[in-house]
Amino acid sequence: MKAAVIESVGRAVVTEVPDPTPGPREVVVEVAACGLCGTDLHILQGEFAPKLPIVPGHEFAGEVVGVGTQVTEVAVGDRVAVDPSLYCYECRYCRTGHNNLCERWAAIGVTTAGGAARYALAPVANCVKLPEHVRTEDAALVEPLSCAVRGYDVLQSRLGAHVLIYGSGTMGLMMLELAKRTGAASVDVVDVNPARLETARRLGVSGSAASADELDRPRGWDVVVDATGNAAAIQDGLDRVAKAGTFLQFGVADYAARVTIDPYRIYNQEITITGSMAVLHSFERAAELFANGVLDPEVFISDRIPLERYPQALEQFAAGVGRKIVVVP
Ligand SMILES: [Zn+2]
Ligand SMILES: [Zn+2]
Repeated sequence: MKAAVIESVGRAVVTEVPDPTPGPREVVVEVAACGLCGTDLHILQGEFAPKLPIVPGHEFAGEVVGVGTQVTEVAVGDRVAVDPSLYCYECRYCRTGHNNLCERWAAIGVTTAGGAARYALAPVANCVKLPEHVRTEDAALVEPLSCAVRGYDVLQSRLGAHVLIYGSGTMGLMMLELAKRTGAASVDVVDVNPARLETARRLGVSGSAASADELDRPRGWDVVVDATGNAAAIQDGLDRVAKAGTFLQFGVADYAARVTIDPYRIYNQEITITGSMAVLHSFERAAELFANGVLDPEVFISDRIPLERYPQALEQFAAGVGRKIVVVP
């Protein structure tokens, strides 16, 4: 079958690899679409993935075309979105409910072959069936949405919060759409990229600007979300949290990024600083929210690029052009 392969650091190709064979509790998914994200770039740069070569792609959905001998829950012809998380269920973190912090953390498309291919393998436990009205190729958005749902689990957000989001790329926009659903009193978005900000406005925001200085909220925001991973944005955001408010680190920052905190203010104003990593018990709910139309796929998916052009798609993503880019086998 045809697959994208990250062969070595900095080198992605599209080539022929053997078709996958399912284990007893695995299914073979014929991929309808696979989204690209920052994780794929990290893998290309030699981070995250412990071993190269690897077939990347952890955001995908498709049709089941083969099932293992002990699979009864899904059948050939079912359409599924795939949760890429592969937990050990044995370590301390798994045993205390923090599976996303698993000591043997692994994921389809990061540590095992992923969805940037004609076919991908998935444990049946990772498959969520799609309802009739959801287009299979749109369901590549369920995985990133499940990360955003996890973000709101961490926030335990209360009704009537004033929310400020840094970044209006795919993840920032998903946080925006969920903020509206979780009863935010207002949602403001900050982004230095005017084209991205325009999409946020189209989706509906209370305020939007290149800098939070231009937004009128003298007490600050109850919830500040960084969806950029950029140290300057994070620093700015930390300083905008209102008394009793919460800062959520949602964007993936560089390992070396550093910001300063103000311990007196954290104490005196009871400020919470927290983070959210990938998916935790949030994939099923994300699939249901997606089926209920929480996101408009036509807005969120900006480019559908043939799998043959995976390296170019990755370059376009790295250049920050567009929103969610998916490759289509
Ligand atoms: Zn991703
Ligand atoms: Zn574990």
